Amino acid sequence: MPNILRNAAPGVLTLEAYTPGMPIEELQRRLGVGNAVKLASNENPLGMSPRVKDALAAHINATELARYPDGSGFRLKKKLAEIHSIAPERITLGNGSNDIIELLGRVFLGPGRWAMFSAHAFAVYPIITQAQDAQAIVVEPRDPDHEQPYGHDLAAFEREVNPEVTLVFIANPNNPTGTWVSPDEIEHFLTKVPSHTIVALDEAYYEYMDPALRGNSRALLDKFPNLVVFRTFSKAYGLAGLRAGYALSSPQLADVLNRVRQPFNNNALALLAAEVALEDQEHVRKSVELNTRERTRLVAELKKIGLKVLPSQANFLAIGFGREAKPIHEKLLNQGVIVRPMASYGLAEYLRVTIGTEAENNRFLAALKEAVK
Ligand code: PMP
Repeated sequence: MPNILRNAAPGVLTLEAYTPGMPIEELQRRLGVGNAVKLASNENPLGMSPRVKDALAAHINATELARYPDGSGFRLKKKLAEIHSIAPERITLGNGSNDIIELLGRVFLGPGRWAMFSAHAFAVYPIITQAQDAQAIVVEPRDPDHEQPYGHDLAAFEREVNPEVTLVFIANPNNPTGTWVSPDEIEHFLTKVPSHTIVALDEAYYEYMDPALRGNSRALLDKFPNLVVFRTFSKAYGLAGLRAGYALSSPQLADVLNRVRQPFNNNALALLAAEVALEDQEHVRKSVELNTRERTRLVAELKKIGLKVLPSQANFLAIGFGREAKPIHEKLLNQGVIVRPMASYGLAEYLRVTIGTEAENNRFLAALKEAVK
């Protein structure tokens, strides 16, 4: 190890950085493939609301952006407070919901502390745990034959949780599997967790869920002061490139998270965009409707060609090939279709595809039929 790194945090030295979905430009650079479609990062194929676009354009001028943003995010918090019927002191704004995960890790993880999350859960949970030199209980997932294959098993979480666990992550729905847990399972688990154990409920894909399957996490917050619920503007709101997310919690938790938050973690455009995006619920509705319709169609088409598809309540599907998926991933790339490999999630026989527009999905299906031949 080079001498200059000998004082680096031990967890960081062995950490493998998060690999994002490949940008379209990179495919062009690497393989010379043009006119690609990217279905690799669970972005909104309709983009952002036109109202947000107009508001951003009006805000881009020399004076506005030469100033620091509002570090308190007053206006965005006010709007979120109204929507969720919650006091602004119970909101923490993040640079994407990824930032919320980081803040939780900084406050609640460190040497001698334990995080808990499911196998095949969102990659950033193990990354922050290791970066903080904490340890992890990785809970066994549901059986491949269960109706939620590879999904979170909250009964197993309950069996494994102990007073040493400081932070539990639950992704609902989970990325990359798309699986979900029921509101009853979540509430039951919360009653079994020590009151000093923080439960972080990641609802990045909440808007895409069938309303009948969604829980009322807002109501749980008043019963369980150790609960943090977080959401993002990156998915159904179509603002992934701007970076905005938020957490709702008890005032005590919001207070400690806000102490370690960078003073200006949300840039001015992200704050404005998020605020205006909340006003255009029609855009969210259209985005979700497209997603539900195309998700149903894609599942049927994929099953027709004999592939295994995990049940999903999100804006992506995990597709199983019954053999290593890497060669199929490469064939798709060569045809200009970018999807996400799942080997780093311990699911090497799967690829994850984001639900796109009808045209993008058709392009994916055609390329996939070629690739599996
Ligand atoms: N949680 C989950 C489950 C995710 O899939 C993602 C994005 N891939 C995030 C959090 C973070 O997203 P963002 O930082 O864009 O809000």
